[in-house]
Order: sequence, then C-alpha cells, then structure tokens
Amino acid sequence: MKALVVEDDPSVFEPLIAGLERNGIDTSHVAYATQVLAALRGVDVVLLDLGLPDGEGLDVLREIRQTSDVPVIIATARGEETDRIIGLELGADDYVVKPFSVRELAARIRAIARRRRNEPQLQSSALNVDRNRRRVTMGDQEVELTAKEFDLLAVLAEEPGRVFTRQELFTRVWDPVWVGTGKTLDVHIGSLRKKLDDPELIQTVRGVGYRLNSPE
Ligand code: CA
Repeated sequence: MKALVVEDDPSVFEPLIAGLERNGIDTSHVAYATQVLAALRGVDVVLLDLGLPDGEGLDVLREIRQTSDVPVIIATARGEETDRIIGLELGADDYVVKPFSVRELAARIRAIARRRRNEPQLQSSALNVDRNRRRVTMGDQEVELTAKEFDLLAVLAEEPGRVFTRQELFTRVWDPVWVGTGKTLDVHIGSLRKKLDDPELIQTVRGVGYRLNSPE
C-alpha cells in the first residue's frame, strides 16, 4: 500500500508522512501541482491538498481523472463545503478537513483499498456493472463514470428492487463516519441518471432512499 502525499506545508506533511509510515502505509511526497502526474506510478491512493503553491488542487484532480482512476482523498483547510462537493463531483473518493488525525486518514485509506478489492461482477437488465474492471455498460454502450458514481451504482446494483436508505448509501459509498449533507448524494444520483440515460432506472423512494428498478 503506497500513498502519494501532495502537500506544500512542512508542518503538515512531515508529521503526516511519519504517521502514515507508522500505520504501515508507504508514502511518497510532492509539494507542487506540476509534479503530481509524474509521481502517480505505483501509487494506490493520493492525498491531495487543495491549496498548492503553483496551482489549485481541484485542477490537479481534474488532470488525474483524465488518465487515472487511482483513489484520491482531498484535504482542505478551508472548511468550505463547495470545495468538497466540487472535489467529489470531479471524482475524489473521499475528503478530510484539516486538521485531521493521521489515524483517521489511515483508516479511510484502508477502507478505500478494501472497497476496491475482490468485488464481484454485478448485473441488472441492460445495465452491466463490472466491479473488477470498474466498467459500466448500458447495452453495448460504455458509460464513463467518476469513481464515486461507480461506487454508488455498484451498491444499488447489488440488489435491484431493494430500497437502499440514504444512510446506508452514505456509509457504503463514502465513509462510516461521513458527515456530509444530503446534497452530495443527490448530486451523484442526478449525474448517474443523466449518464445512464434512463430516467426510470434509479428510482427515488421519497423520504427513504433509492433503488435500482428491477427488470420484470
Ligand atoms: Ca497548502
């Protein structure tokens, strides 16, 4: 397990790297936005600071997602929900708000790694969710999803017809200690519906959650 820490502030990255290493996670480190893409090779997870000296972390995230689906956890000191929502929409897998505890971060990194391992292929009607390859097709068409959209759809596709509560979706897709607003979930559902191009496929169960329409 190797983490790439993208952070320019020594008072943050020095204890962070030491702490991750203590938790059994190998780390590499860069401080500049322009160094990130070249440093991705062999990396299992990226911890990305949003305020870098030579650019915005969100732009770096956009660049990463053009070539890689490596899990990305964004770290923000701003405490601004907007940054977090944009980050998640751009395909970040999770976020932490500074100051965060290294132990908590290590737990989140492991949770992401667990979710990515050994998950079976799932299928429902024209929709095919291949968890091993992290690919989604509708009929013959491949559907491009962000990492989080994929995770959300994969949970719903486990049991077509079953209602998944909002809380369960938060817990399964984001984090057991997720404290975001409902808006993030709704944003992801909305964008999934648009990309899957079938408004009936994901159904809202008012006041409860969502379910994947089961083919009759
Ligand atoms: Ca910074």
